[in-house]
Amino acid sequence: MSNGTLTINLNAIKENWQTLDSISKNTVETAAVVKANAYGLGAREVSLELAKAGARKFFVATAEEGSEIRKALGDSVNIYIFSGHMAGKSSLIEQNYLIPLLNSPEQNIRHHQNLTNHPFGVQLDTGMNRLGFERSDFSEFLELYKEKKPELLMSHLACADDINHLQNEKQLKAFMDMTSEIECPLSLSATGGIFLGEQYHFDICRPGIGLYGGTPFEKAKSVVGLSLPVIQTRALVPEETVGYGATWIAHRPSLIATLSTGYADGLIRAMSGRAVVYANGKPCPIAGRVSMDLITVDVTHLTDIPEHMEILCEQQSIDQLADEAGTIGYEILTSLGNRYDRRYTGG
Ligand SMILES: *Cc1c(COP(=O)(O)O)cnc(C)c1O
Repeated sequence: MSNGTLTINLNAIKENWQTLDSISKNTVETAAVVKANAYGLGAREVSLELAKAGARKFFVATAEEGSEIRKALGDSVNIYIFSGHMAGKSSLIEQNYLIPLLNSPEQNIRHHQNLTNHPFGVQLDTGMNRLGFERSDFSEFLELYKEKKPELLMSHLACADDINHLQNEKQLKAFMDMTSEIECPLSLSATGGIFLGEQYHFDICRPGIGLYGGTPFEKAKSVVGLSLPVIQTRALVPEETVGYGATWIAHRPSLIATLSTGYADGLIRAMSGRAVVYANGKPCPIAGRVSMDLITVDVTHLTDIPEHMEILCEQQSIDQLADEAGTIGYEILTSLGNRYDRRYTGG
């Protein structure tokens, strides 16, 4: 039902990339993480813009995502796959010249058997315990990797959004220890790591969320706007209720606007009774529960009911909306549904 309008400012994405790039020294290359359809904003459009700005290395989660980026950008960029060399993906990796970031002895064997001379990187586990070679497994392959050099050795920080977290330094040290015997490009930092200081930058930084305007890049340019059509307004007398579960009760004569969007469009149900929508800059609380295709908003205090209201706008960033719903900006972005009309500006 939703024909809300999702506006994606490509120029802001480009400027965010340039600003993040300027934080590290000139010798450090800034890549771009465009996994999950560029955090929901359109892998093709976003990658093209970042390539225009000068990005030459792109990271995605899966080989399928990698082949999309290859189609969009052609041969002039490197594309790395976080999930590595998964079973059944060898020909996709080969045909699209993708660089799998091998993350286990099993993947290492698969890669060197199936694609002997195809480039690869290696992902190391320095303390997140999610993906990557453990120290002991990695040691077994050291001699091989001195011969057949990885394109990249990388790891990922678990707590980089907290500058004071002790885990950052522990992982930094583990990463330096594990990589000390191999001469090849190194990468440790995503958006958060860029703000931890030069020693975290190594050869390549890999920002994702910062490009899209999210914390911990505090000075990021805002990238997304979301405007929602009002499809009906309804006057309530005291004691009448709104929505499923009748959780919102009118305590005075009230005016409720019904907007076309819902949890099927990524406005998660946890926003029920908590999040705020803006009418020409004036905050209006969501009244009652978010439904699949609709939300209801208390507009009693407005003198005029506009045709559209905004939920992502100057007054409300992805992180502010996320806070209201008990989640993070990443989840807000990647949940944005495909029923919105998408408009790209500034590209
Ligand atoms: C998603 C991801 C990134 C990007 O992280 P942001 O916090 O969005 O900057 C970098 N590296 C890895 C391994 C990732 O999974």
